Amino acid sequence: MDTSLIQQRRNLVTELPGPNSKELDRRRSAAVSPAVSSVLPVYVHEASGAILVDVDGNSLIDLGAGIAVVSVGHAAPAVVDAVQAQIGRFAHTCFMVSPYEAYVAVCEALNTLAPGSEPKRTALFNSGAEAVENAVKIARHVTGRQAVIAFDHAYHGRTNLTMSLTAKNMPYRDRFGPFAPEVYRVPMSYPYRDPDGMTGEQAAERAIEQIERHVGADSVACVLIEPIQGEGGFIVPATGFLPAVAAWCRDHGVVFAADEVQTGFCRTGDWFACDFEGVVPDLMTTAKALAGGMPLAAVTGRADLMDAVHVGGLGGTYGGNPVACAAALASIDTMKDQDLAEAARRIGQTVTARLGPLQASHPGIGDVRGRGAMMALELVRPGTKEPDAEAAKRIASACHRAGVVVLSCGSYGNVIRLLPPLVIEEDLLGDGLDVLAGAIDEVLSGSAD
Ligand SMILES: *Cc1c(COP(=O)(O)O)cnc(C)c1O
Repeated sequence: MDTSLIQQRRNLVTELPGPNSKELDRRRSAAVSPAVSSVLPVYVHEASGAILVDVDGNSLIDLGAGIAVVSVGHAAPAVVDAVQAQIGRFAHTCFMVSPYEAYVAVCEALNTLAPGSEPKRTALFNSGAEAVENAVKIARHVTGRQAVIAFDHAYHGRTNLTMSLTAKNMPYRDRFGPFAPEVYRVPMSYPYRDPDGMTGEQAAERAIEQIERHVGADSVACVLIEPIQGEGGFIVPATGFLPAVAAWCRDHGVVFAADEVQTGFCRTGDWFACDFEGVVPDLMTTAKALAGGMPLAAVTGRADLMDAVHVGGLGGTYGGNPVACAAALASIDTMKDQDLAEAARRIGQTVTARLGPLQASHPGIGDVRGRGAMMALELVRPGTKEPDAEAAKRIASACHRAGVVVLSCGSYGNVIRLLPPLVIEEDLLGDGLDVLAGAIDEVLSGSAD
């Protein structure tokens, strides 16, 4: 099937989920661990650009991009070609046994794209969580220190160490302990919920004061931070926060590790979210959008840090798989050729223009925030800042029923986030936003009861 023939248009031919999806869902219930859940029980048959076609022939608008993964669009032609060509040559050798060029080329590309002009090195892994684990290993190794600082609302993955670094109990941590030791949590800059007028520098001071009082700078291996928090609620820290935290790290021999797994690769309108304020991390983790849908992750860092780890200290059987590397090279080329950073900025403007005005008519929308194609609405009980997770859930379900995939997030589950493929066509985005606006009107005006 040539997915380039799939029309970029929403079209429902059954109710959602349709009969074929329902049948698959019955098989799923009998076969799949219920601990692995899905946002909507609509089974995908094929996809292209920003359209998912389900097993009943419905075309849905994808405003989630598989959680910020297919930024270049579903079945991006360059990615499909590169994957097909590579898998026909060889699918795997293990880079630690017999190396190949694509791995080296991905590392070269990341070293060039990552913020900062100092020489860099990269190591490749399979998932965001694995990249974060390795960034912590490197930071501990080079500093000879153990403590890792993470933030309120942070999300870094589901392995034991990264679940320990993740803030939210349900569903990520509950009854999954014991947790990894030497993880300390400090407050994030959260402009909507911080005291009025708190600057980024003041928020940084609040976090640093806690680090110094509870842990001690000399014990800290690294400060690990998402430059814009993803699962925690698309929380954009106040201007000045990241530079102040990075400066404190530099002054105290602490590794500043930016987790750009969700924010990376043009999502926020720059190659990386750190670029916005010119922050240069010592280590940076990437994954999600890196390889156009193939599983691949990376730690990119200053050469002096990366070179300090002993030979053989990092790696893994599949890390930097050649097919995933070919996909990454094609994705990165596509982002450059189509200037997807600019596309992300345009998407941000379109979303803000459509959703911003809704906030004026709906006091249940507490905050509209984000950067580039990483935008969110935080829902609250009118007249308060009390989180309204129920409203978020109902708005998301209304969108899903209408064939628009939106995701929720947030420590309180009350945030609707939009992170479409960056190649989404203007009309399709407009249709998706109209559906969302209609769902908001329906739920927040109370007429849905
Ligand atoms: C998704 C995510 C991870 C974990 O990535 P996986 O590939 O799911 O392991 C880590 N950090 C951030 C910021 C993420 O958004």
